This record gives sequence, structure tokens and C-alpha cells, in this order.
Amino acid sequence: MTDLATLGQRIRHYRGSANLTLEQLGATVGIAGSQLSLMENGRREPRLSVLQSIAAALKVEVSDLLDPAPPSPRAAMEIELERLQRSAVYAGLGLPVIRPSRTMSDETLEAMVGLHHELARRAREAIATPEEARRANTELRQYMRTQNNYLPAIEELAQEQLRAVGHATGALTHRSVNLMAKRLGFELIYVSDLPHSTRSVTDLENGRIYLPPASIPGGHGLRSMALQALAHRLLEHHEPESYAEFLRQRLEINYFAAACLMPLKQSVDFLGKAKSDKNLAVEDFRDAFGVTHEAAALRFTNLATTHLGMTVHFLRVGEDGALYKGYENDGLNLPTDVTGSTEGQIVCRHWAARRAFERTNRTTEFYQYTDAPTGTYWCSTQIGTAASSEEFSITFGVPFADAKWFRGRETTFRQQSKCPDPSCCRRPSQELSQRWSHKAWASARMHAHVLSPLPSGTFPGVDDTELYDFLEAHSES
Ligand SMILES: [Zn+2]
Repeated sequence: MTDLATLGQRIRHYRGSANLTLEQLGATVGIAGSQLSLMENGRREPRLSVLQSIAAALKVEVSDLLDPAPPSPRAAMEIELERLQRSAVYAGLGLPVIRPSRTMSDETLEAMVGLHHELARRAREAIATPEEARRANTELRQYMRTQNNYLPAIEELAQEQLRAVGHATGALTHRSVNLMAKRLGFELIYVSDLPHSTRSVTDLENGRIYLPPASIPGGHGLRSMALQALAHRLLEHHEPESYAEFLRQRLEINYFAAACLMPLKQSVDFLGKAKSDKNLAVEDFRDAFGVTHEAAALRFTNLATTHLGMTVHFLRVGEDGALYKGYENDGLNLPTDVTGSTEGQIVCRHWAARRAFERTNRTTEFYQYTDAPTGTYWCSTQIGTAASSEEFSITFGVPFADAKWFRGRETTFRQQSKCPDPSCCRRPSQELSQRWSHKAWASARMHAHVLSPLPSGTFPGVDDTELYDFLEAHSES
């Protein structure tokens, strides 16, 4: 359907060609000139009968008026200016909305449209700064903490979609994911030349979702990525206007994918039974649903508080001790910078998340009790290897009182942590300080992994040029 601004422009265009004033055309079709003016300015929608009279009076077809193309380059710019002035960024400036009058020169119009485009580009660039990203990330983490990391509306949506393709038990198959896509009018296509800055690309016009090649048949990653791409459609996401919105969308699609791969009812049944058997383990949950250890641990945090009555924490930590992802609602003190951001902060070297790296056997979970200032926690940690071949640890933990439900509760491994007290592990002992101060020099390695500068396209982190080249190349085939 044509938007009202374009429809109005087309009426004005044909009225001009017919050499009629507003009053003259109004009189012919039986409405006041002022009413017609409102329609031409896109501020009033004409009834179909009026549209038919206008078309007849101007000796054109109704379809000529409804054509979605602007009638002239000048009209296209006027429509564009109108659209740009409606953006949230412009509205935030509190400046007047300018209506392009007939006396406004083409140059003035072109300059205004150009300035608006630059304003929008700079706004997108500004929201992609690491500071903004950190702030948005912290707010989102704090919000999820208030929700106990649980989003009922997305749980409901996932269950609905699974029911519709007849998925009831066991691991979700590729076939079911394909069926879900088909129901939404999408075809899943695996390509080897996705833009480097993307995980998947959706061609809305041709109903295609492009994903990386199926290198690991049945792998968790592919089903998850396809589900995430579908979630954008199901959740009616629009192009994000801020970094916060971008992060929220990413959280929601990840949540949806997890809720499909580990559906609510089956997961709660599985975990509930393991709890009553006092045999809870992230590794069992992982194996039962065919997902990664990280995905299983994160999913556990979604369900633990609302459905199993436990507060929990989750950590993903690199071999350098830096926190990549963290969640807690059990009071564990995550390390933060002055802004409250946890990403890239170094966790206590006495925590299970770091002690696990020292172990030689890395195929099973590592269990540890940690006495911290906010209480004693029991943690299970699993070491994994990222695509970059760097190692990381995934930790799932609970307060001491809930350790009794977990396998590994009998561990005798126990550590003390005084962090964030700097004397815990951040400040060297006096003895070592005296021995080494002013007698050594080291060259620092830059931290490149955490929220490094992002290309500023329409989507934070995605290069528009690369994206559009890719779509061009594939839409021809
Ligand atoms: Zn410490």
C-alpha cells in the first residue's frame, strides 16, 4: 500500500499537469479545497469514492494515484524530508518540523535532506562507541536480574511454534527448524560467503535466510542460528535505533532459540526429576538436549529461579581470567568497573572459573566450594575451546544451601575469596613487592576481545557495504 505522503504527492502532481487549482478540483469532486490540501500533504486519507472522483476528474486511473513511486525527483525529496523529520533522533532535538513549500528551492531541499542523512549516520556511529555499549549492556544485565533471567512471553512464543510443527520430545531436529521457517514463509539457505560481520542474513523480499555452511551436520550452532534469524521475524523486530535496542533484540533471539532447543516443559521436567534425585548436572542437561555446555548452563539460569526455586550464577571466563558473560541473582559479587560494567573485568583467581584451568582432566566438570564475603557458593565448571583455539571456562553455581541437589556436592575442594578486597588476589604480597618492585619491566598486551569498536552500519557491528554486496550477489541466483 502506498503511504499517504506519496499518494498526496501523486494527486498534486496530476492536478498540476491538469492545470487545476485546489478549489477547482475540489469543486469538481465535491469537497472543499482545504480538505484536498490536507490529502495532498499526506495528512488525511481520502475515501475510495473520493479517490475515484479525483482520478476521473484528472483523467487518470486510480492505480496511477496509488502507484508507490514518487511522481518526480522533487516529490521524492519532499517525501524523504518528511520521513527523516519523523525519526526519534530529530524529534529529540526539539526543533520545528519543516514542511517543504512550493517556494522552497531544490537546493534548500537537497541540503536539508543531506543534513538529515548525516545526522542519522552520526547518531548511529555515536551509539556504537564502546562506552555506550558497556552502559547498555549493564542496564540490560540489571534488568534481567530483576526478571530472574526469565521471559515468559518468549517461552510462550517458543512453545507455540514447537506445537505447530509437532515437536513434543527429545532434541529439536533440523527438519523441525526447516518446517518452522517454511511456516513463516522462509527458506533456509546455506552459503559459504556470508559477510564477515554477520552471523546470518535475511532477505525479506525473497523470503530467504542465509546461514553459514552446514559443516557440522546436526550441530547445535546451525539450528540455533536459524532459530535466531526466525525469532527476529516472530518478535517483529525493526532496525535497531539504539545500541540498547540492538542488545535487547540479540538477547531475545538468543532466548527464543534456547527456549526452542530446550523447551520449557521438557526442561523443567528433566531438571525437576534430577533435582528430586539429587543428581542435577549441567552436563546431563546438555547431553539430553544436544546443545553446548554454555547453552545448557545459560538455559538453566532462565529456569532455575522461577521453576526450581534456586538463585544461581553463570560465568564465561577466558584463560586470561577476564569475564566475557556473567549473570547472578544469588548475591555473588561479579567484578565491575566504575560504571558497573562486568565485561572484560578480571574475576578472582580463587574462583572455580579460574581454578578449573589448572586441572589436567578437562573432560568432566570441576567442582568447588568458595567462601566469599557474601556467603559460600558451590560451583561446577567446564573448560571449552573457542574457534580461536583460546580456552574458556563455563561456570554454573548456587549458594551453599542448594548444593545438595547437585552431583559433585561431595567435593572437598574449597577456596577462600576476599574479592573485591584488593588484598585477596589483586595486590601482591609485601614480600614479593619488596623483592621485585623496580626490578622488572613488562610490555602489556592490548585487550582486543571485549566490545572492541564496531563498524557503524544500520546494525551495530555490521558493515552495510559488505551486507548489501552479499544480498545483491545472492538475489540474482
Ligand atoms: Zn580474589
